[in-house]
Amino acid sequence: MEQITKEYKLGKTVVRALRGLDMEIAAGETVAIMGPSGSGKSTLMHILGALDTPTGGTATIDGADLQHLRENQLVTLRGKKIGFVFQTFNLIQTLSALQNVELPMIFQGLPRSERARRAKDLLGRVGLADRVRHKPNELSGGERQRVAVARALANDPEIILADEPTGNLDTESGSSILALLKGLSVNDGKTVILVTHDPEAAEIADRVILLRDGCVSAEGRAGGEVTDAPSPGSNPGGRHVGEDAGVSAEGGDEGDSHA
Ligand code: ADP
Ligand code: MG
Repeated sequence: MEQITKEYKLGKTVVRALRGLDMEIAAGETVAIMGPSGSGKSTLMHILGALDTPTGGTATIDGADLQHLRENQLVTLRGKKIGFVFQTFNLIQTLSALQNVELPMIFQGLPRSERARRAKDLLGRVGLADRVRHKPNELSGGERQRVAVARALANDPEIILADEPTGNLDTESGSSILALLKGLSVNDGKTVILVTHDPEAAEIADRVILLRDGCVSAEGRAGGEVTDAPSPGSNPGGRHVGEDAGVSAEGGDEGDSHA
């Protein structure tokens, strides 16, 4: 993401949700995006997932400049390369767990028998082998989110985007979802990008990126130092390494991750 801006126009008001954001995420990384409500996290996730286009700047996924892709190319990119997990699960209530997981494979034209086999396999991997026939309202919150993770994996995407995946879960279910996401990175080499308020999530991430007012305000690597991002205007001198940002991507010994 290079100098990404996103403006929403509401009548005469313009909301500047992203204001010249720069970030680069490597294949296979697990990145936690944190920041106060309204700082632009979901807007950024929509752009990362090619669900929305920026107002300005350049967004590139795996070498493809999103602004220069046609709508059908974007659909293919989203369908094959990216899996989404949402805070509110977004499962289809009238479909079973199995059918929910099969749905993205239908859009990619997978034959019926292969769909069912693969969906069962994925539900097994998220620990729900004995829940395939259950509908979302017959599952706990944690189980629903597991179905959503299985659905995100349906087309074996390289990138998993999760926007506050533990936001509606109790601590224990939340931890197991985080462990599941971490496993996708460690065992399957997926790139996992999650938005979270959960300090525990910072522990599973290789890197924490902190947003504030539509820009990256700080980032920290696991076991490394914290770097304040250069902020135009207030910090023209550029980067400095500081103890003031207080973000730690590792361990619990530095407490919560606020800046
Ligand atoms: P976060 O996910 O960090 O809470 P968002 O990306 O949802 O932040 O929102 C960033 C800013 O953009 C907020 O001020 C929000 O009100 C505004 N915003 C988000 N989506 C829209 C939209 N579709 N139309 C208008 N304003 C929006
Ligand atoms: Mg949000």
